Amino acid sequence: MSHKVLIANRGEIALRALRACRELSIKTVSVYSEVDRDLKHLRFSDETVCIGAAAPIDSYLNIPSILSAAELTEVDAIYPGYGFLAENADFADQCNKSGFKFIGPETQTIRNMGDKITAKNFVAKHNIPIVPGFSDELPKDKNELKNIINQIGYPIILKATAGGGGRGMRVVKSENDLSSAIEITMQEAANAFGNDQIYIEKYIENPKHIEIQVVGDGKGNAIHLGTRDCSMQRRHQKIIEEAPAPDLDINNLNSILDSCVNLCKEINYEGVGTLEFLYENNKFYFIEMNTRIQVEHPVTEMITGFDLVKAQLRIALGLGIELNQDEIIFNGHAIECRINAEDPENFQPCPGKITKMHTAGGFGIRYDSHIYSGYDVPPFYDSLLAKIITQANSRKSSIKRMQSALDEFFVEGIKTNQTLHQNILDDEIFLENKHTINYLENEFLKSR
Ligand code: ADP
Repeated sequence: MSHKVLIANRGEIALRALRACRELSIKTVSVYSEVDRDLKHLRFSDETVCIGAAAPIDSYLNIPSILSAAELTEVDAIYPGYGFLAENADFADQCNKSGFKFIGPETQTIRNMGDKITAKNFVAKHNIPIVPGFSDELPKDKNELKNIINQIGYPIILKATAGGGGRGMRVVKSENDLSSAIEITMQEAANAFGNDQIYIEKYIENPKHIEIQVVGDGKGNAIHLGTRDCSMQRRHQKIIEEAPAPDLDINNLNSILDSCVNLCKEINYEGVGTLEFLYENNKFYFIEMNTRIQVEHPVTEMITGFDLVKAQLRIALGLGIELNQDEIIFNGHAIECRINAEDPENFQPCPGKITKMHTAGGFGIRYDSHIYSGYDVPPFYDSLLAKIITQANSRKSSIKRMQSALDEFFVEGIKTNQTLHQNILDDEIFLENKHTINYLENEFLKSR
């Protein structure tokens, strides 16, 4: 039976999805905005449809336009990638109701995981440890609130229930700052997310960011593909990721892996997903679940040989998960550097024309990117240009391989954060894996 999938995204992930479709002999329809006519994957797509103007709201977030393109080209399914509409439950619902299979979990699962309080309560019921805190509506009575917070203990973090993208959060160190912090966070949440509900969590001061990759077939079968460490972050944006996460407490890890897989089995989870945790003093604290493919999925693929994007497509077509848990073999260590079009000094985005470039390559090196010499990076979207991924027998060797890959890679015409990566890979704290999620911003960048 022949299948046709519409790829509702752009850039490297659209190309990644197109490659997976071609390997599965699935026909592709690629949609693009008016400034994206020169995207690489469009040249290899069976059909292409322009869905609107450059601004995301007019194109990649324009649900009616995407659904019209799907109708026009008579696709079977829609692949959302990451970002844009990938975790929009209403979009998933409309795709399914219009007769196009949304490639991802059931709408209700996306909805449950999109609301942070619902998600926390949901996973806690499945034996997954969450950050201690208070998830009900905050009491008006000051003494009652004080008692609640004293039980949690300062510092705390106020978080918007509907928050996302690292926004809508505020750390409170002492009672003196509490009232004003609550007021400001609620106001900001109302402005940014149209919902002023906030909740309280214990602030975990110096954690690592650890995540677990899961895959479910929607029929009660599920597996995990181990861990990733994404602790090298700036403003909650990941810069370097690796798999497996080094130096975790093995007993706690095994128990968390079991719980994550059981959760997926019990809710008939469909597709790929990632459970994100803060990890401090050998303990895991759940923060959120992403119900889509992640940018950093290649590090997991490199150590397992398991193609996560093909798995998404296969599962959506009812073909199930190719391998059992026992057949997943973890092999060595992988690292990913996200090359962004940005000034390495002040992190300002740097769109513009790439006049000349050369990619990295060789044994154990993977390069996922949509850019080429002559490509004009538009200013309207995420600044991700390329992902360089290396895999080797050990963490140390994969870092060495990455250093060599970064030396080979060059882009001219626009600025990139390549030197930032090179400096991080030379840093003792990183090399010894002693960094936490605060290290890059609070220590590394300040010392330069
Ligand atoms: P978002 O959905 O906006 O990405 P998350 O809940 O995933 O929000 O949190 C984003 C980041 O904020 C985390 O990776 C971590 O750096 C920080 N953070 C969130 N909750 C806490 C907490 N309880 N303690 C310390 N840091 C936190």
